[in-house]
Amino acid sequence: MPRPHRYAQIKQLLHQSGAAAYRYQQVTQAYFAQRTARFEEMGALPAALRQQLASQLGSGFSLRVAQVSHSGQADKYLFELQDGQRIETVAMRYRAGWHSYCLSTQAGCGMACRFCATAAMGLRRNLSADEICDQALFFRQRGFPLDSLSFMGMGEALANPNLFTALDCLTDPNLFGLSPRRLTVSTIGLPNAIERLSRQHPQVNLTFSLHSPFEDQRSQLIPLNLRHSLTEVMACLDAHVQRTHRKVYLAYLLLEGVNDSREHAAALAQLVQAPGRCSRLYHINLLRHNANDFAAERYARPAEAHIQRFRQWLQEAQVKVTVRSSFGDEIQAACGQLHAAVNPLRA
Ligand code: SF4
Repeated sequence: MPRPHRYAQIKQLLHQSGAAAYRYQQVTQAYFAQRTARFEEMGALPAALRQQLASQLGSGFSLRVAQVSHSGQADKYLFELQDGQRIETVAMRYRAGWHSYCLSTQAGCGMACRFCATAAMGLRRNLSADEICDQALFFRQRGFPLDSLSFMGMGEALANPNLFTALDCLTDPNLFGLSPRRLTVSTIGLPNAIERLSRQHPQVNLTFSLHSPFEDQRSQLIPLNLRHSLTEVMACLDAHVQRTHRKVYLAYLLLEGVNDSREHAAALAQLVQAPGRCSRLYHINLLRHNANDFAAERYARPAEAHIQRFRQWLQEAQVKVTVRSSFGDEIQAACGQLHAAVNPLRA
């Protein structure tokens, strides 16, 4: 049974200790309006209550900044957790003034995708709901708007059941109060958890990391495909689309000479337009590969002209497609490059 998030524990503790109901509001106001995360600093509470909260729930915040790297529109934060594990969070600023954050859900990852730096760490552990939410709280308390959050940092988000508790917390109007439409969960394809997301958080955006339309090749790139085939996951996504009427994004990481041929584009179009599939609600996001020193295999990014050609092949086949911009790769903050625990950053 996943542990409740901090705010639910605070509410329960206050209730058990006979505190007046408004004390809970004072705590949440301290977190979300007065930007205080430590119980000892919550001056509106009586000292005895502050001490009781601190002694039973710890300091009130689960992360500490170990290092920050800056690069143009992206900043990468290396956070240390209370047991010494390290995770990375990327903050991005778009030119239109939009602030977007890429949060980690696990320390490391056990999914062993061949192109990914995080995979080389193995799975250290799942993050708690508080450790996930505190990455967002860190920026909120510094006055930055949380315009969008994606769970695409370290870890397979849907392999961690605490993600669901974190989503409850982030969308709770009395806490973070974020619209679910500003949240995006990314997965390499865990059908049971996708089904749970459809039921519990139907408005949260879903991105499926596809990377090859061919089962054999996808299994080589993403070993999980041997357990949950592309066919099985696509059927699950179809059910999600039917239930939620929401668009599903298919992330496709272009790897030179591996999955960027005309044959791949044609098979991708066929996959999206398979009979019975609601193709208008599938949108392919083409991603530029970011080189890293840790992944199991070295892959190259196709030339820009070829990336555009691949996009055009899909467009000619009437597939909805976007080439996503990539930033942060020079500080190893881009997709697939996060590798905190064994590669501490240089400031
Ligand atoms: S791509 Fe995602 S799921 Fe695969 S190993 Fe990396 S972090 Fe894990």
